[in-house]
Amino acid sequence: MGEYQLRCVSDGSVQPPYSLSCPHDSSLLRADYQARQIEPKNLPGIWRFLDWLPVHGIIAEAEGAPVTYKSRNLARELDLENLYISFNGYWPERGAKMPTCSFKDLEAAPTMQRLQERGDNPTLVVASAGNTARAFAHVSLITGQPLILFVPEKAQDRMWTAARASAAESRGSGQVKLIAVQGDYYDAISIAEKVQSLPGFAPEGGARNIARRDGMGSVMLDAALALGKIPKHYFQAVGSGTGGISAWEAALRLKADGRFGSYLPRLHLAQNLPNAPIFCAWKGKEAEPVCSNMFDDVLFNRKPPYAIPGGVRDALEETGGEVYGVTDQQAAEAKKLFEQSEEIDILNAPAIAVAALEQAVASGSISSKDIILLNITGGGRARIKEDHTLQMIRPQITVSHWSQAVQFLEGKR
Ligand SMILES: *Cc1c(COP(=O)(O)O)cnc(C)c1O
Repeated sequence: MGEYQLRCVSDGSVQPPYSLSCPHDSSLLRADYQARQIEPKNLPGIWRFLDWLPVHGIIAEAEGAPVTYKSRNLARELDLENLYISFNGYWPERGAKMPTCSFKDLEAAPTMQRLQERGDNPTLVVASAGNTARAFAHVSLITGQPLILFVPEKAQDRMWTAARASAAESRGSGQVKLIAVQGDYYDAISIAEKVQSLPGFAPEGGARNIARRDGMGSVMLDAALALGKIPKHYFQAVGSGTGGISAWEAALRLKADGRFGSYLPRLHLAQNLPNAPIFCAWKGKEAEPVCSNMFDDVLFNRKPPYAIPGGVRDALEETGGEVYGVTDQQAAEAKKLFEQSEEIDILNAPAIAVAALEQAVASGSISSKDIILLNITGGGRARIKEDHTLQMIRPQITVSHWSQAVQFLEGKR
């Protein structure tokens, strides 16, 4: 279970198990799992896909998992016969119980488990525009693993948790340290980079972290197991594009498995205009100047892993993919359409994917009979409030420079 070798995508060379980069170039590393065929395990949540996760054990309480279902109402609106939705959020009526309401839950659990298996118990350092931080905080509140989160001040209102109040209280002050950063996501990243290079701290690795990617790959695995085959199209809103890489990698494994089809799904990735560097790069356009207001700033990423071996461009080229640019207004209308037809609230980011699906239908690039997987990357934020009392995780300090963060952390050690 979860046995693998870590290989550079560029040259196939085997690297030490916890590497984040390759010695010769900028290539991503990829897990080459011993299990050629996936045998779903009788385990909770994504641990069902343990054969293709880079871990040996599980965190049983982290039981969020994607739920694949066939859409009736949205499908009718768009005149599609085989539209499947991968719902990643909180929607217990459909069996979806992601505790922080986004597919970042799929990344956090295997990353934290893998970190535990490393054995040296480092403090994990995460910089995030909100959803990632919330997901990692949740797992840390369950396991008690030490975690430092750097979140832009503006994103603080995303730092809620439905973890039991007792867990949040008894551990919140010790295990999870939230540091608010004056500035944007990039300021949070640059401060995190300084801190994670200190002894005793570990970077989470972003797109380079195989546990993150293979956790998100469970969206494709769940769909293929539910459908008995690989879908023909995959739609997702992207910032870094890591989810797109993950879907492609999972599909490569499913293809090699042999039982789910001998083709790859076309990746249809969607970005919010004008902050759309992947869209611009793919279309060969000059990136527009960054503006700070976005329909959903979790999709903001200035330096996506685009041109590196095994990155977004390779994923698009190998799957015959496409990238869509979506305006705020298109996204707002798509969000309304989805929520009214499927009867669940969604985050703003996945509305961008719904709008891209509408564009693809309108342009005729997909046919009404094709099997389509629409990744709703987050939702149920309103729904979870009906069942749980949400608590805010409050920052312990606000900083504008990395030295303030280091000073604060040294004082705490
Ligand atoms: C992070 C995030 C995305 C984009 O993910 P990528 O890393 O670019 O694949 C999409 N939707 C939501 C809700 C997210 O939190």
